[in-house]
Amino acid sequence: MRILKFGGSSLSTPERIRSVADIVAAARRADRVAVVVSAFGGVTDSLLGLARAAAAGESDWRPRLGEIVARHREALEALAGDADRDAAATETAAIFEEVEELAHGVSLLREATPRTLDRILSAGERASSLAVAAAFRAAGMPALATDARELIVTGAEFGAARVLEAPTRERIRAAFEDPAPLRVVTGFVAATEQGETTTLGRGGSDYTASILGDALDADAVELWTDVDGVLTADPRAVPAARALAALGYDELLELSHFGAKVVHPPSVHPTRRRGIPLLIKNTFHPEVPGTRVTADPPRGDETPIRGLASIRDVTLLRLEGDGMVGVPGIAARLFGALARHRVSVIMISQASSEHSICFAVAPDATEPARHAVEEEFAAERRAGLVDALVVERDLSVIAAVGEGMRERAGVAGRLFGVLGRRGVNVRAIAQGSSEINISLVVGGGDERRALNAVHDAFFGAGERRVRLYLAGPGGVGRALLAQVAAREAELVKERGYRLVVAGLADSRGARMDPEGWPASEAVARLKETESREPLAELVAAAARDPQAVFVDCSASADVAATYPLLLAAGTPVVTANKLRPAGSLGDWRALRATPARFRFETTVGAALPVVTTMSDLVATGDEISQVDGVLSGTLAYVFDEVANGRRFSGAVRKAHDLGYTEPDPREDLGGRDAGRKILILARLAGWEFEPADVSIEPVLPSGKWNEYSVEEFWKRLPDLDDDFELRQREAASRGERLVYLASATSAGASAGLVSVPADHPAATLRGTDSLVAIRSRRYASAPLVVRGPGAGPELTASGVFADILRAVSEG
Ligand code: ASP
Ligand code: MG
Repeated sequence: MRILKFGGSSLSTPERIRSVADIVAAARRADRVAVVVSAFGGVTDSLLGLARAAAAGESDWRPRLGEIVARHREALEALAGDADRDAAATETAAIFEEVEELAHGVSLLREATPRTLDRILSAGERASSLAVAAAFRAAGMPALATDARELIVTGAEFGAARVLEAPTRERIRAAFEDPAPLRVVTGFVAATEQGETTTLGRGGSDYTASILGDALDADAVELWTDVDGVLTADPRAVPAARALAALGYDELLELSHFGAKVVHPPSVHPTRRRGIPLLIKNTFHPEVPGTRVTADPPRGDETPIRGLASIRDVTLLRLEGDGMVGVPGIAARLFGALARHRVSVIMISQASSEHSICFAVAPDATEPARHAVEEEFAAERRAGLVDALVVERDLSVIAAVGEGMRERAGVAGRLFGVLGRRGVNVRAIAQGSSEINISLVVGGGDERRALNAVHDAFFGAGERRVRLYLAGPGGVGRALLAQVAAREAELVKERGYRLVVAGLADSRGARMDPEGWPASEAVARLKETESREPLAELVAAAARDPQAVFVDCSASADVAATYPLLLAAGTPVVTANKLRPAGSLGDWRALRATPARFRFETTVGAALPVVTTMSDLVATGDEISQVDGVLSGTLAYVFDEVANGRRFSGAVRKAHDLGYTEPDPREDLGGRDAGRKILILARLAGWEFEPADVSIEPVLPSGKWNEYSVEEFWKRLPDLDDDFELRQREAASRGERLVYLASATSAGASAGLVSVPADHPAATLRGTDSLVAIRSRRYASAPLVVRGPGAGPELTASGVFADILRAVSEG
């Protein structure tokens, strides 16, 4: 005999219920089977919500009930066979008419008692058992919906009733004497001896299954859910988490206590007592073996730790004082006082000096706990024997659980070593004397990092995936994806991780995929979807993902505005977008607060190593005195042509035709781009200027030139030719050269057309090349010069790629 219990997510749609029927049909070919069902996914919560609304005197409980009724009606229409449909519909309607009456009563009395709530909530399982049984019959199985109120007898503790074992066992055995029907039993619901409806507590359908398993001496109790089993850690926090093949009952309970909510904890007891294996299986992937929970699970060569769990948002309270040393009974008084105030304690730790005891509680228990302790120790406090109670909030408890810790030395040492290397400060430690759990308290902000570090160390990281979230799949973005795709295999081999694209956004919105697409497919995946998500969703996903790198290849101010959120969440940001690093000084300082996380090499001179070089000089103690740069490839080209004798307008036209300029060349001629770049360089040198401090002299005279239409502009441009020819001749007569040069010293930054001596580094530049010349204490007699092609999508992408690799290894 096997008991198969299906949770709400396995019953959320008619299609899901059909796959449940397939699973059950397969099981029946091998064994006798009984089925336990939860309410349809979300229905218990909806019923609870409508009962609360009715109690609050809100009238919308009726439409809410209407939605639930409609959902069941549609399910029956889709699932039941013709012979069955009407009877099942009538029975279902009766169940919800009862709910309507009860809710109406609640709305009149303005109170939902636990007794009434249990009757209302029981409707979810009762209705789902009817639908599931009808679906099974339609699939050719002799299914019979069975109301567990006839099977499970409890006390009158409404909301979470205590099961009376003897009468329960008797009734179950009697009901199952006839082996013919395939029973589809309502989970969660039960009744008192007098027949009053009770429930077994939220999540209690698991419990129903193990009670049946116990009474019927089943060979296995299978809990079918929407995950591949009990995981080594919460996958939302630890992407490398994987399902465990085997687990002990104690380990399962310990993990549940610390927040791994796979199984309703009381359900473990009946199966453990009889040694009935508990299987956690995935309805969505029935072929996956799942987790088998037994008394003595095989260990193989697994690590001493089976799993990690955590409770976030806990408060740590510490009682300290000289008067506690060597005094017996302090702990007893402390915990006695907490118990009297109904404070439940998550974890306890006492220093062996007996000088302090600390314990962790849930946030809403903080004040009751404080009150309890202060009252209990008021006399000691007055006498100066204990200090004021220390209260620390917003912490997380991380628990490492595993039977294997009993036999192996050094597990705790390894844990602390791992956390120390990752910079996680441990606030308190506790190990149960059963040694199957070590709990650590860490700052709430460190929880993810700590979980991932410990998981990597004990379970291996598997193939690590680094997930890119990319904004701006334009020229640079596409070139980047192509370059990443071409290096994919080498990265896995040489660096041990795979770069995948977990999200991509253009100006129309974003698309995400938590698994990640190969870089070669990402653009197609974005293109094929019409329903884009907002950029904020992409950013939120990147902020949550501990393996994320956010990449900005856009020129968008909206994207640039998201960096602070990402950086604060610990997500590295790589950008080719100048807007933020060249934004306000306050913005700049915020970006530089986490220098290893924010990388922007390509904002100046594309892939040329300018930002890195400047940063390295400053980091190693050099003092920069002056930075000069030819930072606009377009303007470099134009004045190189003018030096070669071309008319100014012709040079601009040629630059335009070669694709060096923006569609409207005034963008380049205005000098703004060069101004942003010199501002970034000045800031890197340590001169903290605001954008307004950079004086930019446009190539075009001011005024009317900016008002012309583009055609008008082109028509008038030759008007300027004589003027530029004159300037060029004057420069040449002095042996000098015209360049659009940006410069910065501690006194200020500027950009404009100047004439430089022939031995100036900028005078030797040709074509569109960029140049940066840095003078410093170390480079006093001759500047450090970085020069070369400083524009173009391929080059910029390669610089972004290099920044990504650095962010992964250092960020
Ligand atoms: N339907 C109940 C709940 O949501 C019982 C269960 O699903 O296990 O809590
Ligand atoms: Mg459940």
